[in-house]
Amino acid sequence: MDLYEYQGKELFKGFGIPVSEGRLATSAEETRAAAEEVGGQVVVKAQVLTGGRGKAGGIKLADSPEEAAEHAKAILGMDINGHVVRRLWIEKASDIEREYYLSLTFDRGEKKALFMLTKEGGIEIEEVASERPEALARLHVDPLEGFQPYQARRLIYGAGIDDPNEQKQIMSIVQKLYEAFIGADSMLCEINPLIVTPDGEVKALDSKFTVDDNALYKHPDISEMRDLEAYPPEERAAREKGVTYVKLDGEVGILGNGAGLVMSTLDVIALAGGRPANFCDLGGGGGAQGVVDALEIISADPQVKAILFNIFGGITRCDEVARGILQALGQISIDEPIVVRFDGTNAEEGRQLLVEGAPEKIHVESTMLDAAKRAVELAA
Ligand code: GDP
Ligand code: MN
Repeated sequence: MDLYEYQGKELFKGFGIPVSEGRLATSAEETRAAAEEVGGQVVVKAQVLTGGRGKAGGIKLADSPEEAAEHAKAILGMDINGHVVRRLWIEKASDIEREYYLSLTFDRGEKKALFMLTKEGGIEIEEVASERPEALARLHVDPLEGFQPYQARRLIYGAGIDDPNEQKQIMSIVQKLYEAFIGADSMLCEINPLIVTPDGEVKALDSKFTVDDNALYKHPDISEMRDLEAYPPEERAAREKGVTYVKLDGEVGILGNGAGLVMSTLDVIALAGGRPANFCDLGGGGGAQGVVDALEIISADPQVKAILFNIFGGITRCDEVARGILQALGQISIDEPIVVRFDGTNAEEGRQLLVEGAPEKIHVESTMLDAAKRAVELAA
């Protein structure tokens, strides 16, 4: 789950990382009031779950509440990389002497958390990494050893930060960022830019914070930060039911168990000449109700012309999925034909149940490719 800048900053603040004071606003009027409260020069910042807001014109300095309100009018409703701006963060403007970059993420190859720090902040980190890799200090944290203060020192020297006053503050920020990363079960904590003010104060001017979805149950406070309106309505409904669903623009509704299997199913549909209408993962051990919920969401998409179930039984039992399909057909009206391919645990029992239940619209196929071909044919 990605957090908005202001939410990430709230977490930063909680972990003791310095940020500027600010207020949330959703209208020009609220922006004026927020700027009034914050006082002095403010920066009006579009809150969207994507980067590059500055370049897109979504970040503007204002010298008065009136000017802030004017900027709010221009920025609200703006489309930034496909994200419509509905929230603004009004923050006390900072004077910037230097812009650094600090992040903590997972290096999956090394199976360790990775710190990156460079004095060349403010721009895309990929640019620094490819053009001036020597300017980017990288440091892995051993998960068993945990974070050690000497590592912060090594990182800071590695990045060539030689001012003792900056070193001291960044030491502390690095330590706290690690605490935030672990404490919030984060996948990414990025501060770009980490600024130094003319007075020598170091603080986080931006925040990119991603929390592991699978750990959200441990963090109800973070979970609540999710902005449901930022998702398409079908995805919202799916989320409420605990189904992983992503809308795509084809005609064949897809339902599988396990992200890998669902991805390959999308590929096989393409191979068979069709286009998938969605990605939908029942997950492991899904019971009949999960199948009913997923079918309800998929069949609600008017673009769907046929539905393909691709189930590889492991923890998930195919007979349980078959019961779910029959139950769903009894509860909701589904007009589209359904192609089913079962393999693995209780596949035979599952097929048997479908054959006995024998609704006309169900087509049982025994291989993934045949099932995909049939679904594409039926969707045509
Ligand atoms: P991003 O473009 O989405 O990464 O948004 P950022 O929050 O990183 O802001 C982009 C740029 O706007 C920063 O790199 C700064 O140069 C500028 N900026 C943001 N806040 C302030 C501020 O308080 N004062 C000044 N002078 N510039 C700011
Ligand atoms: Mn930024």
